[in-house]
Amino acid sequence: MIDLRSDTVTKPTKEMLEAMMSAEVGDDVFESDPTVNKLQEMAASMFGHEASLFCPSGTMTNQIGIFIQSGPLTDVITEVNSHVYQYEVGGIAFHSRANVKTLEGNRGKLSLAQIKTAVNPTDVHRTETRLISLENTTNRGGGACYSLSEIKEISSFARSNKINLHLDGARLFNALVETRIKPIEIGPLFDTISICLSKGLGCPVGSLLISSKENIQRARKVRKVFGGGMRQVGYLASAGVYALQNNVERLIEDHENARILAGILEELDYVETVIPPETNILIFHLKDKYEPQLFLEYLKFNNVLAVPFGGQSIRFVTHLDFKADQIEDLEKILKSFSR
Ligand SMILES: *Cc1c(COP(=O)(O)O)cnc(C)c1O
Repeated sequence: MIDLRSDTVTKPTKEMLEAMMSAEVGDDVFESDPTVNKLQEMAASMFGHEASLFCPSGTMTNQIGIFIQSGPLTDVITEVNSHVYQYEVGGIAFHSRANVKTLEGNRGKLSLAQIKTAVNPTDVHRTETRLISLENTTNRGGGACYSLSEIKEISSFARSNKINLHLDGARLFNALVETRIKPIEIGPLFDTISICLSKGLGCPVGSLLISSKENIQRARKVRKVFGGGMRQVGYLASAGVYALQNNVERLIEDHENARILAGILEELDYVETVIPPETNILIFHLKDKYEPQLFLEYLKFNNVLAVPFGGQSIRFVTHLDFKADQIEDLEKILKSFSR
């Protein structure tokens, strides 16, 4: 089976499982799970922040980050295709009762000029602009990455206007290895950062919210009310420690595989366009006369899984369990669809 539906489909390797099985654990609601504490300290110091919080999902870390920095009568500015707006079940309205101001960016990225147009003046009629939420890499934007200077500009504008800045970094490590930006360079530019351990890093579960001590103290309480207080969760945190130590640099292989696949797709007569992959997400559009559902069924019949991505679009995501030696088989399958 070649499963390109997402980078969440990976299964823990033997080495990761061994690290999990030998984890030292305790009750994390009492903050006495040594492995969770180790993971949280590791992530915080990596990004130049004081603290972090281990959570069950990226949706939860994003929603907690937004909750502690917005609220009723405030605005959250985000890109219209962002995960926090499109794929978290309207959580910003549901949990935070904040207004979401969406902007149409370039491949999911916002520019400072755009953001400036969306900030509300102080006015009795208007919500108060409290938070900007960026995504890096962008999911619907086909894994696009911000440059360090783009982020620096947005960050200093936000700081000088007393607007908080959140980063949905579900795939932040993909962006960092691709752009050769160090975590320590990017971390301090944001007030809160969410990272997923269960995507490219290959963990079975887990995300981290990274921020100041004060924010994380508040976030811990919000995690509890969301039902995310966990007990001997060091078994899962141990996978995170392992992943941060062993699975970051290898992400570059996934990017290379995505580029090779893009090259193959570009040659196919039933493919209209391929969005050039910057990282591990590859989005392409089928020509109008090809039904995406039929194409996906054809793939499935040949043991290849992918997802529809709206209209004529299909998404492939490369990951730890997709190896370069599977490309040849996949190429044959893709090539025989046109005939
Ligand atoms: C996957 C993802 C998340 C979090 O998803 P969970 O399934 O809740 O862990 C957040 N943001 C982006 C951009 C994602 O791709």
